[in-house]
Amino acid sequence: MRTLFGPHRGARFQSLFDAASGTLACYPQDDALTGLPNRFAFEERFARAIARAHWRGWFPAVVLINIGHFRRINATLGHAMGDNLLRQVARRLSGSLEPNDFVARMSGSEFALALCRLEDPRDTAWKTGLVLDALNKPFEVDDQQLYLPACMGLSVYPEDGLDAETLLRHAGAAAFRAAPGCRQQVVRFTRAIGEAARTRLSLETDMRRALEGHEFRLLYQPQVDPEGRLAGLEALLEWNHPRRGRIAPAEFIPIAEESGMIVPIGAWVLGEACRQNVEWQDTGHAPVRISVNVSAVEFARPDFVHMVTGTLSDTGLNPKWLALEVTESTLMRDVEESVRRMTKLRGLGVRIAIDDFGTGYSSLAYLRRFPLDALKIDRSFLLDVTSGTVTPLVETVIRLAHGLGLRVVAEGVENERQLGALRRAGCDLLQGHLFGQSLPPSTVANSVLCQDRLAAMAPVN
Ligand code: C2E
Ligand code: MG
Ligand code: MG
Repeated sequence: MRTLFGPHRGARFQSLFDAASGTLACYPQDDALTGLPNRFAFEERFARAIARAHWRGWFPAVVLINIGHFRRINATLGHAMGDNLLRQVARRLSGSLEPNDFVARMSGSEFALALCRLEDPRDTAWKTGLVLDALNKPFEVDDQQLYLPACMGLSVYPEDGLDAETLLRHAGAAAFRAAPGCRQQVVRFTRAIGEAARTRLSLETDMRRALEGHEFRLLYQPQVDPEGRLAGLEALLEWNHPRRGRIAPAEFIPIAEESGMIVPIGAWVLGEACRQNVEWQDTGHAPVRISVNVSAVEFARPDFVHMVTGTLSDTGLNPKWLALEVTESTLMRDVEESVRRMTKLRGLGVRIAIDDFGTGYSSLAYLRRFPLDALKIDRSFLLDVTSGTVTPLVETVIRLAHGLGLRVVAEGVENERQLGALRRAGCDLLQGHLFGQSLPPSTVANSVLCQDRLAAMAPVN
């Protein structure tokens, strides 16, 4: 596209000639909500700033700013309040500008700042400092004060890109790396960040055909009682990528969550785990409960309970042989709704456990309200077990859980010392490499489901 005319009078429009279609189109240049330039205007102005800077030896830079929590703000305070906040953000950003710099609203809660006349790339530090100061003060809505987390990414010409489009993309990749909520941080683009962004994108693309290509499979890790008897299996997803080989869930689940692919993948996992369980029962094995991990994105969907009910009826699995694992942060997103969903699921007979317990933020008061069956203590808490006793923290969690009528599962049990300490502390179930890694279904059927005990355990002292 090529710009034919400058801005019109009144509302600013840009007329663009689309060479491919031979048509002339008009694009507004202002964002209607904030009055700031929009993406089109930003790219055009920034491209001009780069051309000018090139001849003068300046180092123009772009800061991409993602303001967090916006979906939640719109959902809880309403869109009018959300709009009001965005206008306040726009005013603050405009107020933090130096002459010759400019700011634009790119989309939703994403803003871009162009720093045009930097004679030294290091000057970005104090300029972005002004922006951070502006955003770190509380915002006012409805007599309430709100702090908005912002992720900021920075890219500087010519080191991080030679044109506006590349610099913006690289600033976006850097912003993605900035930890949300870490308000004092502006992340500068690096080659490693660019590489990670490309890997993410290619995994996201590949993931779309992985389901149809049967590249996913479920592995099962045993859970045992303190005597070593099989008490359940946790289904763990694995991706066998045609070029990259096996990819662990920790690498691809976050990408699946962001892209929304976790929804069809999660539905497949649930269906496959239930189907497999029925198959084992049909071939004469004693029934065993299978735990399935559910991500926050799946749990938050309005049709989640319906999807679980449908899968149970399609596969014919008795709900008591299914457990769902959710994390504390998943449940804390909307406590009332979580309680409603969990109540429905438990009404069906499905068990519910909190996974990775201790790594999230749930409070005791909420824990009491959630209709739960078990807590799974995160394996990071077992790393400190170096003597014959668990740490006071683990001991407290076990006592707390039992006080609430919940069972406690310890994950990541790797050695006899941890096992002894957990048994003495009264932990109900154990899971970890000591009793078996994640195993393919054939090994589960031929070995795990046929043994009385998965580990020869000495009696508790
Ligand atoms: P998780 O649900 O907490 O699963 C336990 C993880 O710890 C598994 O890693 C398991 O292989 C590993 N693990 C088990 N025992 C030991 C041990 O003794 N030592 C050590 N070092 N590690 C042990 P994995 O398979 O890489 O899964 C990681 C996470 O990915 C899971 O954590 C879960 O949050 C997620 N995930 C796995 N499968 C699914 C799935 O089907 N759906 C969703 N939404 N998430 C999944
Ligand atoms: Mg789990
Ligand atoms: Mg876990």
